Amino acid sequence: MLSFCRRLRIKGSHARLPGTQVLKARCYASAGSRPGFDWEDPLLTKDLLTEEELAISETAERYCQEHILPRVLQAYRNEHYDPKILEEMGDLGLLGATIDGFGCAGVSTVAGGLITRAVERVDSGYRSGMSVQSSLVMGGIYEFGTAEQKEKYLPSMAKGKLLGAFGLTEPNHGSDPGSMECIARRHPHKSGYYLLSGSKTWITNSPIADVLLVWAKLEQTGKIRGFLVERRDCPAGTLETPAIKNKTGLRASITGMIHLDDCPVPEANMFPDVEGLKGPFSCLNSARYGIAFGTMGALEDCIFHARAYALERKQFKGNPLAKYQLVQKKLADAATDVSYGILAAIQVGRLKDQGKATPEMISMIKRQNCDRALHNARALQEIFGGNAVSDEYGVGRHVANLFVTQTYEGQSDIHSLIIGRAITGVQAFA
Ligand SMILES: Cc1cc2nc3c(=O)[nH]c(=O)nc-3n(C[C@H](O)[C@H](O)[C@H](O)COP(=O)(O)OP(=O)(O)OC[C@H]3O[C@@H](n4cnc5c(N)ncnc54)[C@H](O)[C@@H]3O)c2cc1C
Repeated sequence: MLSFCRRLRIKGSHARLPGTQVLKARCYASAGSRPGFDWEDPLLTKDLLTEEELAISETAERYCQEHILPRVLQAYRNEHYDPKILEEMGDLGLLGATIDGFGCAGVSTVAGGLITRAVERVDSGYRSGMSVQSSLVMGGIYEFGTAEQKEKYLPSMAKGKLLGAFGLTEPNHGSDPGSMECIARRHPHKSGYYLLSGSKTWITNSPIADVLLVWAKLEQTGKIRGFLVERRDCPAGTLETPAIKNKTGLRASITGMIHLDDCPVPEANMFPDVEGLKGPFSCLNSARYGIAFGTMGALEDCIFHARAYALERKQFKGNPLAKYQLVQKKLADAATDVSYGILAAIQVGRLKDQGKATPEMISMIKRQNCDRALHNARALQEIFGGNAVSDEYGVGRHVANLFVTQTYEGQSDIHSLIIGRAITGVQAFA
């Protein structure tokens, strides 16, 4: 915890994002009488954060605005992901930040969420690359790995020097991963080894990953187990990870497939105890929390730019767009949803640290925040008129990205079924 703060501490703990002063709202209260309204934080959610969480958030925001924002336009256009970004995040202690030990910072769940919000304010694709590394792979190893696996992988992953991917989805089984076909059978000749075969698709980071956490069914039990597949140990032709190109969203992240053809993996690389969907679902729980918080960052960025545009752009008798009621309603809707979303994310984060959070709570905030972020970003996009079509304005990029956040890690309708099952006690999946 301390080392994280030392690395992250910045001067002036209440510094704002670059440029925000220029557009700072007027407060609608006379000085000294009653508190003013802060359009950037209408419900004063900052008051719910600790000093340390504020410092972490501000440092993450500064890094993202100064170092990754300038790269995103070209990265998105060219569908190029620079893995050095993960190394930079590792240098700052942003990877696996909620993990205690193994070179990780051990910060609160809310602080972890604030980091995802800062990254996703720039781009959901950058947040996806970070979430896969931090929550899905490092989180999985931390929760289910042996002592040797933790020592072997976590410190280099925390530095962003060893990159991870999480392979659950298959070409024929997305929302229903329990029906997966990927299989692990005992090696017929080599004792202490399994042979993995099958395909995974839509896997973030797979083309660049050094270690791939692959979920496969053990042939002898039919139960799902987690395997850490190390690329450098795979004989030629047993592991392929082609990139999926020409995506319409998350273009600043890298996505691919995983093809395994009798790929030998030592038993020592299998998670020792966890069986069934509990393993992948537990990793997904943490990552979904990060998405719930992260998407609020993307929506905040849309609000920031839509507001600025509405104040500058004049139509009809020289009036700024901001003067029109329909435009104001779009901004009011978005600001309300972002505030509610952040409050909910903070509450669930606190409950998670107290051991009181349930998967249904995570489903609720993941579904709600992704849906509202997509809905509002799409409405705010209209404020830019024809200019919304230019990628220079960024809002179209957020809209395309937010469709993916609503789809992966449990599509929103699937989360409705999880919540509905908890409310009624009746399973509606099949
Ligand atoms: C850019 C990107 C990155 C990704 N990264 C990863 C990754 O790193 N690792 C990984 O494992 N996966 C990853 N995914 C995969 C993602 O998690 C899946 O796409 C998602 O789970 C949905 O599965 P599917 O695409 O097969 O859709 P399907 O399961 O075919 O669903 C299609 C539609 O049908 C609906 N539907 C399905 N079943 C039901 C039902 N019973 N009742 C009502 N509606 C239903 C769904 O809600 C959805 O709207 C990624 C996807 C994308 C696009």
